Amino acid sequence: MANHSHGIPGPVLIDGCLTCHELAAKLPACIAMFDRNHFVNAWSRAARLHMFGDMGGMPPQSSLETPLLDLLWAFQVQIQALGWPIGHVPIAPTDADVS
Ligand SMILES: [Zn+2]
Repeated sequence: MANHSHGIPGPVLIDGCLTCHELAAKLPACIAMFDRNHFVNAWSRAARLHMFGDMGGMPPQSSLETPLLDLLWAFQVQIQALGWPIGHVPIAPTDADVS
């Protein structure tokens, strides 16, 4: 994903793009390949879509990215039950936080 982008904060996967269609067919691999910025974008878009029913000021979702956003939303619901707020991106601890 680091080498394939249509820009942030736009749709993570674009309808009609061959590479995006290939990525959408392998969602676990697609998510694993996200760089930090693309992951944050996807996480935020998933929260926005499911919390408000639309993208608000963000570019509208594509049909191709909807299953990905649904999957990321499911993870957000699960980690919310563990105490992490919906829509907040889990932040890796800094070196100073790791002991
Ligand atoms: Zn694409």
